[in-house]
Amino acid sequence: MGILSTSRMKSPWLLHFDCGSCNGCDIEILAALTPLYDVERFGIVNMGNPKHADVLLVTGPANYRNYRVLRNLYEQMPDPKGVIVVGTCGCTGGVFHNCPNIIGGIDKVIPVDVYVPGCAARPEAIIDGVVLALGKLKAYEK
Ligand code: SF4
Repeated sequence: MGILSTSRMKSPWLLHFDCGSCNGCDIEILAALTPLYDVERFGIVNMGNPKHADVLLVTGPANYRNYRVLRNLYEQMPDPKGVIVVGTCGCTGGVFHNCPNIIGGIDKVIPVDVYVPGCAARPEAIIDGVVLALGKLKAYEK
């Protein structure tokens, strides 16, 4: 495994995108970054630039207003990349599934590797999801 791949495994950078959630799941993602859970001690860094990100964390359902933005962010991320959907809304549409502007789960727009259900998803589950996504990135290296 090269130095780039090793760096990715040891310090994955995340991009967080709220696709239209109620913000409950977003608050839990932020909680994972606070000193109580402190994911930065594992080298996990929240990143604002898709071109520097290894893992995309998405909350909320896919919808007609911003699905192009979601696809655009995904396409800007370098390969290999992982996508984690956080919360039931992102997994299936959740409480928003009957709304007229809702497409459904995030996998209707981009490929998803890990689903973290829950309303809201707990920080422990989100951290587990990141570890699962890293396993996928590692598999690409073979
Ligand atoms: S799963 Fe629950 S907490 Fe998360 S965005 Fe949907 S309604 Fe909000």
